[in-house]
Amino acid sequence: MNPFLLLFAAFYFAQHLVDSWLTWLNIAHVRSHEHQVPLYFQDKISLDEYQKSIAYTREKARFGMIASWVEAPIFWGLLLSGFFGKVDTAVRALGFGTVGTGLVYLVLISFVFFLVSLPFNLYSTFVIEQKYGFNRMTPKLWLVDLSKSILLSILIGGPILAAVLWFMERHLQGLWWLYVWILLSLVQIFIAAIFPVFLLPVFNKLTPLEEGGLKQHILALAQKINFRLSGIYTMDGSKRSSHSNAFFAGLGKLRRIVLFDTLVKSLTESELLAVLAHEMGHNVKKHVRTGLLISSVASLTGLYVLSLLVNQPWFYEAFQFAQPSSYAALLIFMKTSGAFTFFLSPLSSILSRKHEYEADRFAAEVMEKREPMIEGLVKLTRDNLSNLTPHPWYSFVYYSHPTVVERIRALEKVG
Ligand SMILES: [Zn+2]
Repeated sequence: MNPFLLLFAAFYFAQHLVDSWLTWLNIAHVRSHEHQVPLYFQDKISLDEYQKSIAYTREKARFGMIASWVEAPIFWGLLLSGFFGKVDTAVRALGFGTVGTGLVYLVLISFVFFLVSLPFNLYSTFVIEQKYGFNRMTPKLWLVDLSKSILLSILIGGPILAAVLWFMERHLQGLWWLYVWILLSLVQIFIAAIFPVFLLPVFNKLTPLEEGGLKQHILALAQKINFRLSGIYTMDGSKRSSHSNAFFAGLGKLRRIVLFDTLVKSLTESELLAVLAHEMGHNVKKHVRTGLLISSVASLTGLYVLSLLVNQPWFYEAFQFAQPSSYAALLIFMKTSGAFTFFLSPLSSILSRKHEYEADRFAAEVMEKREPMIEGLVKLTRDNLSNLTPHPWYSFVYYSHPTVVERIRALEKVG
């Protein structure tokens, strides 16, 4: 057997086993707590609501586990039957030229994986989210969203992918990885800048926040910490889901605050301000910049590694390609890198949780009291049926945010 394939298989199944084991631990841990609301929340969250959050957590966890073990044999079946190489031979026969062949090939393969994940996506939205009262999406809206995503992928993703393939073909022996990295970095900045103004409105209706107390207070908050922004909008997130959120998007003059209508409805003004102060804190404390820096170093490393792999025949043989090509290299890289980097993921979770603590503390300091942040967190936890009692190992590996209990404990030490 091909040594690269063997190594990949080892990482792939190690990841799946560790993931299933942690999920199982988490389910058991949550179950063992189901008879009593954690101490701090006893007067804030009813036993009914708490047990509903446990049922939701368990159902999602079990479903995720089933999905990953159904998808595994499908993926390995395709791989070991030589499917990826056979499609390549068929597409090559159409005679589109290298870049054209690569585009057609990658679109076809993406479509196959889309079909594999389709029943799981539908079940998750229209059965699980529906059952717990989160889903507001109609089948019609789902189809409209899908069509828009496909159109955007063609318009934006198509030319980028073509450019990447072109660079790979031209500089296969040289510095293509550096050029591709520069191209992708520029694209990333460009998309981040225009996102709230040109992309978000394709899917959602953004309405400028009405004049009044809330808007004045948000502007005053931004001014207090020198946070530049060019607009505050509410977004009709409720047309898809009752999960709530708030975020900043865009760069420079296009930077906007976006509040989900569901959030505005559920939080009081001071809680909302605390949540926004937390988000602004990520900027002030340079978390956004750090995150961008890390992800760009990671992508540079990945592209460099890929540049070493593209010249190795065993790399293509592992996926049963008859001949090497830039798009085959991209496909193999995309399908294998997750398994190889999985065991590094706790590192990014640790850093992200550190940032969350800092942003919480920042919010409490700017608001000059910690209660709004704490009360806001409690309400968000209750409304989103978040898991109050994850297994510590599970949250260590997967949680980008500390648990609510940890965040509140840390907040209580502020000031
Ligand atoms: Zn945060």
